[in-house]
Amino acid sequence: MLIDIDRLPKEGLRLSGDFDFLSLDLVEENAVFLEPAHAEVFVRLLGDEVFIQGEITAKLSFVCSRCLTPFEFPVRSKFDLVYLPEELDALTDELSDEEIDKMYYRDRHLDLRGVVLEQLNLTFPGKPLCSTECEGICAVCGEIVRDGGCSCVVSESDSRWDKLKLLVKDKS
Ligand SMILES: [Zn+2]
Ligand SMILES: [Zn+2]
Repeated sequence: MLIDIDRLPKEGLRLSGDFDFLSLDLVEENAVFLEPAHAEVFVRLLGDEVFIQGEITAKLSFVCSRCLTPFEFPVRSKFDLVYLPEELDALTDELSDEEIDKMYYRDRHLDLRGVVLEQLNLTFPGKPLCSTECEGICAVCGEIVRDGGCSCVVSESDSRWDKLKLLVKDKS
């Protein structure tokens, strides 16, 4: 969905839409969309700056980085952004700290799809967990500890030691 900057009404424009993305588009490549991402936005032009406020809702399936089980990850994220014309960027070779966070639109158009995707990616956890208490997979039997699939008595939970144990196991 491309927004034509020059055709934005003075009072601003309210837009809403569903966006289909591929898992490939996401920073979290194991994520799968359970429903399309939905965005409601309000776009306004002030001078040359485009102000865009809105909310994104989506439902994804992530894979837990500890136990490798898929789990549902709902997204509800509000954002408030300012986009500047790209031409200004070309004038400043060195970006100051303040300018690094600034975003730009190109050729008098703003790609709403790109905005939504970027905001979506920002909401993702660096290390997805099905629960903060997830105990992951047992290093001894390979079963998921949470499901009671493992009955091993493991007193050492430091994964560095688990790796060491496996090495020792391989050699014997
Ligand atoms: Zn887990
Ligand atoms: Zn076990």
